[in-house]
Amino acid sequence: MPDKIKFVLIGSGLAGGLLAAYFGRRGCEVDLYERRADPRAGNFVGGRSINLALSTRGIHALKQLGIADEVLAHAIPMRGRMIHGKSGNLHFAPYDRDPKNYINSIGRAALNTTVIEAAQRYPNVRVRFNHLCTDVDLDAPSAHLRDTETNQTSEARGDAVIGVDGAFSAVRQSMQRQLDRFEYDESYLAHGYKELTIPPGADGGWLMEKEALHIWPRKSFMMIALPNPDGSFTCTLFWEFAGPRSFESTKTDDDIRRFFDEEFPDAVPLMPTLLTDFRDNPTGSLVTIRCAPWSYKDKVALVGDAAHAVVPFYGQGMNAAFEDCVVLDECLAEFPKNRERAFAEYFFRRKENADALADLAIHNFIEMRDKTASKTFRAKKKLDHLLEGLLPGVYLPLYTMVTFTRIPYAAAARRALVQDSIVYGILAVGALIISWVIVRAVIR
Ligand SMILES: Cc1cc2nc3c(=O)[nH]c(=O)nc-3n(C[C@H](O)[C@H](O)[C@H](O)COP(=O)(O)OP(=O)(O)OC[C@H]3O[C@@H](n4cnc5c(N)ncnc54)[C@H](O)[C@@H]3O)c2cc1C
Repeated sequence: MPDKIKFVLIGSGLAGGLLAAYFGRRGCEVDLYERRADPRAGNFVGGRSINLALSTRGIHALKQLGIADEVLAHAIPMRGRMIHGKSGNLHFAPYDRDPKNYINSIGRAALNTTVIEAAQRYPNVRVRFNHLCTDVDLDAPSAHLRDTETNQTSEARGDAVIGVDGAFSAVRQSMQRQLDRFEYDESYLAHGYKELTIPPGADGGWLMEKEALHIWPRKSFMMIALPNPDGSFTCTLFWEFAGPRSFESTKTDDDIRRFFDEEFPDAVPLMPTLLTDFRDNPTGSLVTIRCAPWSYKDKVALVGDAAHAVVPFYGQGMNAAFEDCVVLDECLAEFPKNRERAFAEYFFRRKENADALADLAIHNFIEMRDKTASKTFRAKKKLDHLLEGLLPGVYLPLYTMVTFTRIPYAAAARRALVQDSIVYGILAVGALIISWVIVRAVIR
């Protein structure tokens, strides 16, 4: 690919900044437009989770650019799940049998700033904030922009426009409007989410175990909490939007207090701002978006949530978006003279994996909110770790493959199905043999 290729990137969220850095490293000209203000001005608008779990796939993408250590310096290791029962009883379950395998709690704002700064180290990358993309002319290709401070409109032209503008991507909407047979599917969970806070203790320290992802599983709903470097925890309540007990039916302070006292009695004393947090913080929706194709000729492509938004229960949306950047960069390197082929190859390599992750993420919601509290689930996790130890490199639990390896998501899901059928088959045969031995003994 000639060095003077110019990319117009829309969206400098987590993947946008990273992709700009990858393209900057390739020597391409990059103009990155973001509708929001510069997060470094201290006016970071989350709208999404304040902190996220960063794991192997995301770390690999950061390592390729030499910024993993910089990012991990701000991270807190979460070595396992801390399950909170209704009576306040605690149960800690490590994520992996290898203690070196853990996930990292990282602030969205800090990570966003790091990737944008990594991109700006390349003189050929320019980042423009307060620029909203309103439409993309796919054939030009060019992006129509509006300066959100002055209301002035402009057009950004390049050799290709890349939509890294999140789940409600304007670039994808332009593809939907302009392309024949563009496939699009969006589906929402019946649950929404609300962020709440556990502030630091009087000494500035963490009021619960710091190096864990805390879960309050309550069958049809749950609350989780991730630690922050300032000693606080960000809690997220995932709860039904509507129904007899739901966001919708919980209106008064008494309703809120009663619900939390009943369901999360050990957390309530740690949440002095519960009522205001609950009232003031928005209730977010949980969407899965699938679309195809992710590119148009050699002119337009989609990356990250713009191509495949998933629900957050595997902690993989950002990790997958970072993996997209790695794969797209690899494809551009493999087909330097044929960008259309590179885009098509990127779509081919990523699509089935994005679809597999979407299914895994929905399934993991059921596992987190319902099964983590059950003895059978804990026994299965122990068995997983035992088999992993007995059959190293042969048996890998699904969670391990998704979180601590770079095995493609679809391959991990297929392998887990085979492993489960063998394990359950062996258990069933074992149970049959034991029953047969008992029956024989009784008959005699
Ligand atoms: C509650 C919750 C918890 C999560 N937890 C995790 C987790 O633990 N681990 C994990 O890996 N993932 C997690 N995710 C998923 C993760 O947030 C996303 O997958 C990730 O942010 C995707 O990055 P992105 O760059 O594709 O999109 P985004 O981060 O959404 O960035 C898109 C950017 O584009 C900008 N933009 C949008 N429209 C326009 C426009 N028209 N013009 C210009 N700019 C525009 C936006 O302002 C934004 O900056 C979570 C998500 C949620 C909702």
